[in-house]
Parts: sequence; structure tokens; C-alpha cells
Amino acid sequence: MSAAVTPAEQVREQLAALGLTVAATALDGLAQQAVREQWALTTFVGRLLDAEQQARRERTIQSRLHMAHLPYRKTLDTYDFAAQPGVDERRIRELATLRFLAHGDNVLLLGPPGVGKTHLAVALAIATIHAGHSAYFISAAELLVRLSRAAIERRVETQWQVYTKPRLLIIDELGYGQFDRAEANLLFQLVSRRYEKGSLIITSNRSYAEWGELLGDAVLATAILDRLLHHSETITIRGESYRLREKRQAGLVGATALTAPTTDD
Ligand code: ADP
Ligand code: MG
Repeated sequence: MSAAVTPAEQVREQLAALGLTVAATALDGLAQQAVREQWALTTFVGRLLDAEQQARRERTIQSRLHMAHLPYRKTLDTYDFAAQPGVDERRIRELATLRFLAHGDNVLLLGPPGVGKTHLAVALAIATIHAGHSAYFISAAELLVRLSRAAIERRVETQWQVYTKPRLLIIDELGYGQFDRAEANLLFQLVSRRYEKGSLIITSNRSYAEWGELLGDAVLATAILDRLLHHSETITIRGESYRLREKRQAGLVGATALTAPTTDD
């Protein structure tokens, strides 16, 4: 003889059938706590729904972190401001409030290799995702390869969606490769499409004065910078490479190596 289904079991099954699996699991524990602590009925229902909602938020965050394609997961907590006096901590903390995101402003992180540009961009992406938005990270080189290929195969329209949809787009390491004309045009189109709609973070080892040469076209470079910088914040980091600093402190490299940025990693 099979035992009759208790009311508690039935509720658990119904919650699970409705897809509220976390609430189903939490039901017994919360019901006991409700009796022990004499909760109002609405408090009990509220706590049950809270458990489900919180688990969903966490799942969304995990899925967005995955979809963001971050090269690593580092936050501001692990950024050593003391080690990088070239960075104004207050300005970075202000950026981390994500006010720039609300206005669709851009952030440009400029400086030599190893000073923490990517680290800071990743930290802002993680903050963005935790605040309930989407982010996407891509290196400039990879972005151009993908867009160029899509343009040749006449499917660039679907590619635009990938780079225009996320609330925050990070283009990392602009400036390591020379652009050809078609690539400069694609970058212009991307910047135009996101202009005043969604924030961009760009990291680069080149100063704005060098962008004309980098993009192979001074007029196009001006047009791109015009849109990028209209609503933007530029953080220029002057300082030595964090990696080299660590090696130097460990006595692995001499001070002379620090003058040659190409020796970084
Ligand atoms: P960049 O993008 O400017 O070349 P990265 O952000 O890639 O430099 O930094 C290189 C490495 O050094 C990363 O592992 C990063 O986490 C670390 N790093 C750089 N600056 C700092 C810092 N001030 N505090 C902690 N880690 C740092
Ligand atoms: Mg970098």
C-alpha cells in the first residue's frame, strides 16, 4: 500500500512542476522555521519566493559572466592602487558606480603594457553584470577578424547585433596591429552604431595623436574619435608594468629592462 501524498509533498511537487525548483527544495526548512518563529503567512510566502528569485539572479549573473568572454575574472578588490600611483583611485571608484553606463558614456583606458588596463576593464564588466546588465569582451584584433570575415561572407548584419546588443562592449588592445581601410571602416561603423546607445570601454597602448597612423586614415580616425570622445572619460595610466614590477622586486630583471615595453611578458 503506497502512502498518501501529504499536503507538503503535493505543494513541493507543484512548485517543481511550475519550475520553482529552489522554492520546492527550500519548502520544508522554511515551513519549519515559519512555525518556530511564528511568521505571518505572507512572510513565509515571501521568503519562499525570495529563495527562488535570488537563485535565478545568481544563475543570470553566472550565465552573463560566461557570455561576456572575459579573459579572466578580476575585480577592483584585487587591483593594487598603491602599486600604480598613475591611476587615480577615486576616478576608478567613480566609474565602478556605473554612472557612465546609465548615460551610455565611453571609457578609454590608455597606457603602456602591463599597467592594468585590461584588469580594470574586466573589473568594470563584472560590476556591470552584477548590476543586472550584459557585457561583452573582445580584443580589437579578434573583432576585426570576425567583422571582416562576416563582411566578405555578407552576414555582417548579424555580427553587428553581437556587438551592439550588450549594454557594455569592451574592445581590448586597440593599437597592436595596423588597420587597413576596410577594417578602419568597420570600426567606424561599430562606434557609430553604439554611439549614444551603449557604452564602450576601449583599452589602447596608443595615444589619440597616433590613431590617424594606426587607422591608416586621418579623416576616419577623426570621425571615430569624435564620436568616441563626445561623451567619454579617458584614463591615461602612466607607470611601470605590474608584471615587470613583480619580477623586478623578485630580483629577476634589472632596472634597465623597464625602459623597453616590448620585454613585458
Ligand atoms: P594591460 O592591459 O595594461 O597590459 P593587464 O591589466 O593585463 O595590463 O595587467 C597585467 C597583469 O598584471 C594582470 O594579471 C593584472 O591583473 C595585473 N595587474 C596590473 N596592474 C595591477 C595592479 N595595480 N594591481 C594588481 N594587479 C595588477
Ligand atoms: Mg591588456
